[in-house]
Amino acid sequence: MSTSHPLYINGQWVTGAKRITNTSPSDLTDVIGEYDQASAEQTQQAISAARQGFAQWSKSGLEQRYKVLMAIGDELIARQQELGELLSREEGKPLAEGKGEVYRSGQFFHYYAAEVLRQIDERADSVRPGVEIDVRREPLGVVGVISPWNFPMATAVWKIAPALAFGNAVVFKPANLVPASAWALTEIISRQEFPAGTFNLVMGSGGETGEALINSPQIQALTFTGSLEVGRRIASATVANLVKCQLEMGSKNALIVVDDADVDLAVEAAFNGSYSGSGQKCTASSRLIVTDAVHDEFVSKLIARLEKATVGHALHEGVQIGPIADKRQLDSNMAWIERAQADGATLVFGGNRVEMATEGYYMEPALFTDTTNDMAINRDEVFGPIACVIRVADYEAALTTLNDTQYGLTGGIITNSLKLASDFKARAETGCVMVNLATAGTDYHVPFGGRKNSSFGPREQGQYAREFYTVVKTCYVRA
Ligand code: NAD
Repeated sequence: MSTSHPLYINGQWVTGAKRITNTSPSDLTDVIGEYDQASAEQTQQAISAARQGFAQWSKSGLEQRYKVLMAIGDELIARQQELGELLSREEGKPLAEGKGEVYRSGQFFHYYAAEVLRQIDERADSVRPGVEIDVRREPLGVVGVISPWNFPMATAVWKIAPALAFGNAVVFKPANLVPASAWALTEIISRQEFPAGTFNLVMGSGGETGEALINSPQIQALTFTGSLEVGRRIASATVANLVKCQLEMGSKNALIVVDDADVDLAVEAAFNGSYSGSGQKCTASSRLIVTDAVHDEFVSKLIARLEKATVGHALHEGVQIGPIADKRQLDSNMAWIERAQADGATLVFGGNRVEMATEGYYMEPALFTDTTNDMAINRDEVFGPIACVIRVADYEAALTTLNDTQYGLTGGIITNSLKLASDFKARAETGCVMVNLATAGTDYHVPFGGRKNSSFGPREQGQYAREFYTVVKTCYVRA
């Protein structure tokens, strides 16, 4: 059986210019398949096809849009076991998380199917007698979608579903590390009643396929999730062409644990926030800012929790921490372990590579104490299962430390004080605030995004998505 996976352009499966092999980080001998790569020219063809698709899709009835989005959501949910296995196999997150991601992706489609039917325009009174005004929101045009590897399906879907719901055409470029989930999603979309060109899949590298997409003056919007470095590059390319952009980028989230905290709850929140998905989440809490009074108890209980965590193959039962997604990221994590120690941090748990029955990119989760907020490991995004405890005197010092970063995605606090919780909500310089919850784990019907260098442009998700995926038209009529 052929394991090749072509591109999808203008309603056709098309052979790419090159091909890459996708293997599992849990088992390097497990070949998932071969995935075609779009040349710059093919990416341009996809954009042209999307312009044609847009002409029809933007005029489609709301009922048609509702039905196709519901059908995609239904199929994702019905196939969550099979697609969850595929996702976990290629990305490395434990199966329960992989299945959960596919299920949530189905829910995103259902949510935006309902949004299709909520298209209610505004009416305004005119300052001139006899003139009526209505303020409409119309589809934008062609939306370029560029997604990262860490949520292979969810980040793509929370862009693709609203783009389609609001009547736009899509050119989708997934990360090269995780083409299987993107391809499986495309295969489902390809069977729905979309005009040819409404949805296009161009797998490929950032340097060739991605650059062709972001530099095109023929797209109307570009939505991106990934690193700060690439986000800056995309901003300069799209803004130069006056193309609307939305960027979700890096982070350096922190969880504060104060004197009055429930320490067991703090440990669970830190464990889930710092280590689930091997810490490869934009919402991961890589900094744990703990006051003197609870520091020692918190650290010893977190170590006890880590001792119980099972590292292993993403598809094996009972595994809580899967492999790192690729060799480059594993090497980077190991370099951080060395660098932090050289800078004076104390490694109190883990941090070693792990040998398994299958060859993969395994490492123990790591915990550092005696770290300060000016150490490189607390300033740069690490993106691995590594957390650093920063000891502080009190809540004020903790808050100052949390805000002392170039990023601002999520911030959390564990406290039993209503007063502190309320103060924290007001003063945390982050787009999302968590009280008595892990920094990771957000809902999909409310806005998501950050401040400072974590985000740029309108918010994603929920009703806020309408802002990015539509354009406003103000109509004056003298009756
Ligand atoms: P990345 O920036 O390396 O790549 C993201 C995507 O951009 C990929 O599809 C890649 O091929 C593409 N790309 C790379 N260079 C490009 C270029 N020159 N032109 C166009 N496209 C290009 O990020 P990654 O390693 O895939 O993902 C990890 C990063 O994503 C982390 O920084 C993480 O914080 C961030 N992230 C952020 C959020 C959020 O919502 N803020 C969510 C998930 C991940």
